[in-house]
Amino acid sequence: MIKTDGQHRLDLVQAGRRFDESGFCPATSGNLSVRLDAWRVMITPTGVSKGAMKPEDMVVVSPKGEHRFGRKHASSEKDMHLLVYRLRPEVGAVVHAHPPKATAFACAGLALDQALATEFSMMVGPVPLARYGTPGTPDLAASLEGLIPGHNAVLMGNHGVVAYGKDLFEAAGRMEMIEHFAEIVQGTLLAGRQTPLTPEDLAKLHEAARRYGERSKGR
Ligand SMILES: [Zn+2]
Repeated sequence: MIKTDGQHRLDLVQAGRRFDESGFCPATSGNLSVRLDAWRVMITPTGVSKGAMKPEDMVVVSPKGEHRFGRKHASSEKDMHLLVYRLRPEVGAVVHAHPPKATAFACAGLALDQALATEFSMMVGPVPLARYGTPGTPDLAASLEGLIPGHNAVLMGNHGVVAYGKDLFEAAGRMEMIEHFAEIVQGTLLAGRQTPLTPEDLAKLHEAARRYGERSKGR
């Protein structure tokens, strides 16, 4: 079922509230977007708390970032969202936030790319670490460009996380899973050891995920 623009506005409000309640977006940080069609992306406005957004606050921009609709200004990170849409034609939603545990890894200079937890390996996969890039500048996009095609999310050095998926539900779910996985990895570091899944385990998991995907498509 194709969603109307109005439904996408409500989805963004709801996902923003959820991120805010989870502590992923302190003050007015973080931004979320959905691809409406080949010509339009709907993105959250700059300078508004993710917990206090109204449906009419959302801004519509062209794939090049030109303002198309809305009274507010688009997020200053819109270029990063548009880069993901350009590099990943199948992606329908992009979310960026600063969840504290995952961001701690980004600030420590550590990727979250260990194959340790089954669900995470199936739903998200390895999350690489991009070098630091100044927010809101082409330097940030340049730091992410090479990592976006092969991954479902990227840790942004000294900054936060960008995650994406076929729709907002999948993209936001990945962000939540990344923060949860960061806590798990933290636990293994405290325990002083990690027991990674083997390449054979991973191959079987991906096969199971593929079969599951086909089954749910057939429903
Ligand atoms: Zn940020």
